[in-house]
Amino acid sequence: LVPSGKDGWEVHFEAVTRKEAGEPIIILSVGDHDFDTPKETVEACVEAVRAGHHHYTQLSGTPALRAALAKISTQSTGVATTAEQVIATPGGQAALYAAVQSVLDDGDHGIVVAPYYATYPGTFRAANAEFSVVETRSEDGFQPDAATIEAAARPNTRAILINTPNNPTGAVYTRKALEGIADICRRHDLWLLSDEVYWTLGGGEHVSPRSLPGMAERTLVINSMSKSHGMTGWRLGWLAGPERMIQLLTDLNLVSTYGLVDFISHAAVEALENGYGVKEIAERYGGRRTVFLDAIRGMNDVTVRGSEGGMYVMLDISAIEPDDEKFAWALLDTEKVGVTPGSAFGEAAAGHIRISLCQPEPVLQEAAGRLRRFASSYRR
Ligand code: PMP
Repeated sequence: LVPSGKDGWEVHFEAVTRKEAGEPIIILSVGDHDFDTPKETVEACVEAVRAGHHHYTQLSGTPALRAALAKISTQSTGVATTAEQVIATPGGQAALYAAVQSVLDDGDHGIVVAPYYATYPGTFRAANAEFSVVETRSEDGFQPDAATIEAAARPNTRAILINTPNNPTGAVYTRKALEGIADICRRHDLWLLSDEVYWTLGGGEHVSPRSLPGMAERTLVINSMSKSHGMTGWRLGWLAGPERMIQLLTDLNLVSTYGLVDFISHAAVEALENGYGVKEIAERYGGRRTVFLDAIRGMNDVTVRGSEGGMYVMLDISAIEPDDEKFAWALLDTEKVGVTPGSAFGEAAAGHIRISLCQPEPVLQEAAGRLRRFASSYRR
């Protein structure tokens, strides 16, 4: 169940170790906020603890939480959503797990669009399902190509899993690309598992494929408060989809999670209803992306690909060094910047490095300066 890919993550672990040992390392390989949860949400949680919300909750989420999740799903997907069409899970990862478990049985086949989030292969394996990886191309800004996806479909294919805005590429899938995927789902009678946990961090309007014609009944949207509301450690995610499927998933919650944490559910309702942190966090990442991309603009032999949304920037460094792992190690050794080699996310991102924007603007600027110096003096 270990994430696939080469040993690209070793660079990250080594960077952390060296930083802890006192080296002036800038770590740009972490996918977690560098700031705490908004204080209003924290206060709401403390109040909920004091008010005695210490008990078991309903398996699919408290009624207030489901109502709030329905409201935000209506907003995020553009499809009017009822409380019966959402189910709360302890984090987006649990929502992914539930989605894959519910749609794929032993021996069923799924299509995963790459580069993808590191847990996807393991999530399929946990369902004993087969999966094909369909690569997007760097030259296309990592936008998916419908014909390539369709070519991977088999008689036992049940689902396509996509992620927009994307981790690791930062690509925000265009409406046209999503329409192509929706068309495949309708014609081959497939589920679309749509991971939209970065939906607030896309810059422009978020397009959910759930809103495309005929897709509401065959799309399961995976979402989470981790990124949008600054709540990674709180473990609050959810699925939105057809009522019948959501009902079935209650059974999975019964035997797996037995519901969410009571006081966290209360705080989550407050955070959802009041949008605590959402705008600020989106603006913060938007600002950081602009600052970093401005700081590396005009760099020789480095091409920005994707990088329109989410928490990451993807840089094509293959003109400097085709071996992205070698590049990342040398960058860590000489300039003390820790990045993730693209090949950790599969073939399509080989020759790239992933930069996390989870650092304040001045740190990103400093890192960009170090990267620039490194690239200009690098000898293969
Ligand atoms: N999907 C993607 C694409 C992610 O990047 C992450 C977390 N990094 C998740 C799902 C899961 O997030 P969480 O479990 O924190 O909600």
